[in-house]
Amino acid sequence: MAPVGSVEIDYKRQGGVTVVPLYCAEDVALLPVVRPLVHWRAVYAAPAGHRSPLGALDPVVPGRDRVLLGEVARMARVGQAAVANWRCRHADFPSAVGGTELHPQFDRPAVVAWLLAYDKIGVPVAMPSASLVVVGAGRRMSRFRFDDPRLVLADDAEGQDQLSGWSTNLDADELAALTAGAPGASVSRLTALGTEPLSVLGEVSVIERFRSGSGGLRVTLAWPAGLRGAAAEGAAGGVVRHGVPYAGPGSECVCTRHDCGGIAPVDWCREHGRAAEPVMDWHPGSGIRCTTLAEGRTGASLPSAHP
Ligand SMILES: [Zn+2]
Ligand SMILES: [Zn+2]
Repeated sequence: MAPVGSVEIDYKRQGGVTVVPLYCAEDVALLPVVRPLVHWRAVYAAPAGHRSPLGALDPVVPGRDRVLLGEVARMARVGQAAVANWRCRHADFPSAVGGTELHPQFDRPAVVAWLLAYDKIGVPVAMPSASLVVVGAGRRMSRFRFDDPRLVLADDAEGQDQLSGWSTNLDADELAALTAGAPGASVSRLTALGTEPLSVLGEVSVIERFRSGSGGLRVTLAWPAGLRGAAAEGAAGGVVRHGVPYAGPGSECVCTRHDCGGIAPVDWCREHGRAAEPVMDWHPGSGIRCTTLAEGRTGASLPSAHP
């Protein structure tokens, strides 16, 4: 990134006049996009007065700032095959400036300019955020926003999902109060970039509050992965509960049946409705358990509600 100019600032007693380079705001906003190999979270979270992790990186030599195809793929969030494809199909894709035929190197500014021109990357306009509706003790419901969220979903039902993000003191206190105690809280709707709206049946708790040197507060929530599923449609969300009846649904059942063998009971079903109050093995729809159950039933002949 090249400065677009400079100003001279007189620090008086602290060393006198210093030349401070000026950078274009767009270039600065693009940094996390065009340098995907930098651990930006560590940079943001570095306490004031500490050496920034950026200091450990090799300085960029103008004219010798090069990238491999793999890093270009990470910038554009596509597979390496897609980048190789662009290179073949577009005559104006920057030519290699070094490396080998197998591992060609490209000039980073030239590649960034090409990616921008073809809308493969964009200038981030705002910090991404996640919004969540938490239902705590006494069915109290509150909305929260996590800036620069990080959502890590476990691969199996025994694992733990985690969501962290920057929050305010007030929100962090309220979250802690809502999720305190043994049963924890539930999340009726969690919306974040890159995932469908999620819902968590319960046991949501605050596992960490981290104060960065610059005063930001980062909160981490966690819950058992088996309790996470797709959120029901509508702003209120909520878990789409599937119940697997201990006795298979009979001829009088009018509930919606799912691939997992579970049903979403309707009030008026004679077997599973409000009057019957059947004993069922509940799990969140489209969650890990739902998928596992559905996979275990491949080839089963039940009519399916899923496309
Ligand atoms: Zn039924
Ligand atoms: Zn299910």
